[in-house]
Amino acid sequence: MKTLMSGNEAIAMGAWEAGVKTAFGYPGTPSTEILENLVKLPGVYCEWSPNEKVAMEAAAGAAIAGSRSMVTMKHVGLNVAADPMMTLSYIGIVAGMVIVVADDPGQHSSQTEQDTRHYARLAKLPILEPGNAPECREFVMKAFELSEHYRCPVILRTTTCSSHSRFLTETGGRTEKDTIRFERNVQQFAPLPVWGRKLRVRVEERMEMQSADSAKDSSLNHIFERPSAKLGILSSGVAALHCLEVFPDASILKLGWSWPFPDELLRSFSARHEKILVIEEGDPILEEHVKSLGIAAEGKKYVPRTGELTPSRLTEVRARFDGEEYSAVKPCRESEDLPSRPPILCAGCPHRGIFYGLSKFDVIVTGDIGCYSLGVFPPLSRTDVILCMGGGFTLAHGMKKAGETRPVVGIVGDSTFFHSGITGLLDIVYNKGNVTLIVADNRTTAMTGHQDHPGTGRTLMGEPAPAASIEAIAKACGLRRVFTVNPNDLEEVHRLLEQELNCGEPSLIISLAPCLLRERPAKKRTAKIHPETCKNCKMCLKLGCPAIENHDKKEKPCIQPQLCTGCGMCTHVCKFKAIEIK
Ligand code: SF4
Ligand code: SF4
Repeated sequence: MKTLMSGNEAIAMGAWEAGVKTAFGYPGTPSTEILENLVKLPGVYCEWSPNEKVAMEAAAGAAIAGSRSMVTMKHVGLNVAADPMMTLSYIGIVAGMVIVVADDPGQHSSQTEQDTRHYARLAKLPILEPGNAPECREFVMKAFELSEHYRCPVILRTTTCSSHSRFLTETGGRTEKDTIRFERNVQQFAPLPVWGRKLRVRVEERMEMQSADSAKDSSLNHIFERPSAKLGILSSGVAALHCLEVFPDASILKLGWSWPFPDELLRSFSARHEKILVIEEGDPILEEHVKSLGIAAEGKKYVPRTGELTPSRLTEVRARFDGEEYSAVKPCRESEDLPSRPPILCAGCPHRGIFYGLSKFDVIVTGDIGCYSLGVFPPLSRTDVILCMGGGFTLAHGMKKAGETRPVVGIVGDSTFFHSGITGLLDIVYNKGNVTLIVADNRTTAMTGHQDHPGTGRTLMGEPAPAASIEAIAKACGLRRVFTVNPNDLEEVHRLLEQELNCGEPSLIISLAPCLLRERPAKKRTAKIHPETCKNCKMCLKLGCPAIENHDKKEKPCIQPQLCTGCGMCTHVCKFKAIEIK
């Protein structure tokens, strides 16, 4: 039966059909929907782990215990999970384990653009690259087979395009897999140096085997032969599928198994063509390897290193390669004519209160990854540095220890606190830091679509769970000053910040109010500006609430009732009591 599905749905389906028993992950666009779909299928245990490292370790434990397991994350998540993955490559697994990593070329929703093939090379693990949903399903099933065959995890690398684009995809039934009994073997599974050195040699042998096998595997590496083609293209993933369209006269070797490289296949394909062009999204990993084999190939001289390789960009590549003039087809309207629409906090977002409060003080704010990173934009403009998940706390600590004289405030979200904020907090208490910490706690992992986390009291399986208390954890870490504030109460936010910013020791403010997109008030109330009372001072615009409009600067602001959530924050800002909530 064929069903229209996204790449992420297809991965969930393929893993289920392959008999996966456990799946772990941390939400991150574009990978999030894999577990959200897998959890709906019977016979699989799924969980949101507190972070990607934990998810990787748990999936490894499950695979070592003899049942097929999967772990999912976005590319930056693999930075967090890289440590266990490196050693897992040495000790291997018992039942199949697939590591799904979704890259984001073009940085649609990511702070960096990373090419996960680097990690496959570094960890010496096989990597498969599906280009669309049918391949996502097929490749994840194949990945489990390869993983069991070589007794090592296999990485499945998707990109935003292959994760989210939808295709008619075949589905079948589930093949149940018996659990393989784990047998004690410390020389394999406890890589102390004396045994680790032997495992190291086996990893190299395994890669040689994989390179030879990959060269013969036509189910993953496919040649699209065009009669009498002089140009041969080496490519992989989504880019390879676009090449089929853009280069109708070229033969194309589409690598589905893109590391270890199938050297014999690369050599034989290249020998049949006069010119070789390597088209890969991301870094010139394949190009450099092909050149190291002595093959005269070209690649990044014509192909952009950054962003997605869309058909229109590849048309440009083709023109450059052929030495032709190329003028890109103009979109209907030049994008520079359009007003810029930077992302903003939603109307009624509780994070707005804490950033508005901070805007009244001369402080440095180190932020983190989540909706609250939008506090960096005007008119709030109250985040100065953002680094990585969990970095909001520790960046602040480092700046203060470096001698910054202004108060430094570190912000993380609730999900981020559990992900990697706790160790930063511990560091600050232990090493006698002097920063103000804020957890922007909206009771969910909002930015990726409202996933649960250890503080919400619910699991991905839909069961109630103990809800970890941020306050209790902070106190257990030794923090003496812990406060909770409702960020919609701007006066209280101001009072607390004034009290804590210069208190002389580390303190934590939990800014607690649920995300309004998840917990809408039962009765809709809206705010209204009374024009007769309004003095047109524009103070309410400083909140940056998208419900408050002021198109003509000479006119008084007004509130769009369709957008307004009735949070009431603007009523605190208007000194003239011109805003009323009804
Ligand atoms: S803050 Fe009050 S008085 Fe000032 S523009 Fe807004 S509604 Fe009018
Ligand atoms: S009450 Fe005011 S701040 Fe809150 S959503 Fe409505 S307009 Fe925006």
